[in-house]
Amino acid sequence: MNFTTEHEALRKTVRDFVEKEINPYCDEWENAGEFPIHELFKKMGNLGLLGIQKPEEYGGMGLDYSYNLVAAEELGMAKCGGVPLAVGVQTDMCTPAIARFGSDELKRDFLAPAITGDMVGCIGVSEVGAGSDVAGMKTSAKKDGDDYVINGAKMWITNSPKADFMCLLANTSDDKPHKNKSLIVVPMNSPGISFSPHLNKLGMRSSETAQVFLDDVRVPQRNRIGAEGTGFMMQMLQFQEERMWGAANVIKALENCVTQTIEYCRERKTFGQPLIDNQYIHFRLAELQTEIEALRALTYQACELHVQGKDATRLASMAKLKAGRLGREVTDTCLQYWGGNGYMWENPLARAYRDVRLVSIGGGADEIMLGIICKLMGTLPGKKRD
Ligand SMILES: Cc1cc2nc3c(=O)[nH]c(=O)nc-3n(C[C@H](O)[C@H](O)[C@H](O)COP(=O)(O)OP(=O)(O)OC[C@H]3O[C@@H](n4cnc5c(N)ncnc54)[C@H](O)[C@@H]3O)c2cc1C
Repeated sequence: MNFTTEHEALRKTVRDFVEKEINPYCDEWENAGEFPIHELFKKMGNLGLLGIQKPEEYGGMGLDYSYNLVAAEELGMAKCGGVPLAVGVQTDMCTPAIARFGSDELKRDFLAPAITGDMVGCIGVSEVGAGSDVAGMKTSAKKDGDDYVINGAKMWITNSPKADFMCLLANTSDDKPHKNKSLIVVPMNSPGISFSPHLNKLGMRSSETAQVFLDDVRVPQRNRIGAEGTGFMMQMLQFQEERMWGAANVIKALENCVTQTIEYCRERKTFGQPLIDNQYIHFRLAELQTEIEALRALTYQACELHVQGKDATRLASMAKLKAGRLGREVTDTCLQYWGGNGYMWENPLARAYRDVRLVSIGGGADEIMLGIICKLMGTLPGKKRD
């Protein structure tokens, strides 16, 4: 990646924003289980940070994905994962399909206000019985006059309690599972939408997550993104940006774990010497830093392909897989060197350990990434037939 002065200026803007507007409040928001999402998003929107790679016509900066990658990486400097996750949902999970395939009307009504921070979005794909197996979801949208009438429920939906719209994947016909789905933009104030209480999560405590119930929710058919039946394909494309964002966002968070652990191990003495002087520990931290650099290189490579307009599925899946696995290794190893202090709830390593654990599960679990990579390597066995 050849970063320009523009990339570096953007990096500084995001870094300053994180230091000034997010980090001083992380502890408070983590304890509260929420943060003022509309207020914070509006501030980000004012700086252009919610539409970096979105078209200028709708208020975006019109830059390529490498700029977004820089912003995702820098958001990783936040002292909690929940707030960056909420931002990533807005920029890279619930809006890419609208930007790429949505009508002008949808872009004006939902994309433009998502870019300015006047609207908060969420993405509704997972269901209680269908997370990894997206094709098996049951939520349906049936035509009635000019509308769709939507019934079903979506599980673990980040931002949903305060969202203004949901980019919803629903079955719009009885065709085969990959051909019967459509993406529909659902205003969250529509009659028939209700929520579970906030889900009590292991980590990402400052982000709000709930189950969303849709009971005869009426939405105009013009809220469908692209052609009917192409929702699965569009969601798979949308996942590529989600996965690159997820990998990029974890890089600096992991580097912070290593840096903070080095500082701690310099201070903490056992048997008359600083912990860091144990070769086992300083070698191990050097190994982890090396792995983080490898993750960075892989993520940048995926991004470069994507920027060139080529299919980045293979490298984006590898980057997501590596981010999840390395995230678990780094946070677990570093926490160990903090000893009992690391096991305390408020400890920064303990928070990273809880937050980063999501990377191996959300947006396609590690095993789903392995399945995609195997498919592209030609080693995935076909479905057994009699
Ligand atoms: C905090 C949080 C926020 C989330 N936010 C959103 C959101 O905003 N929108 C949304 O739509 N979803 C969201 N999700 C859902 C998330 O994407 C799913 O949890 C994820 O896709 C995994 O689905 P599942 O939980 O149903 O796991 P399952 O599909 O039940 O799988 C369980 C485990 O089995 C393993 N596994 C699954 N399939 C295979 C296989 N073929 N081979 C081998 N092993 C396999 C994996 O290890 C997987 O973790 C969120 C989840 C969490 C926890």
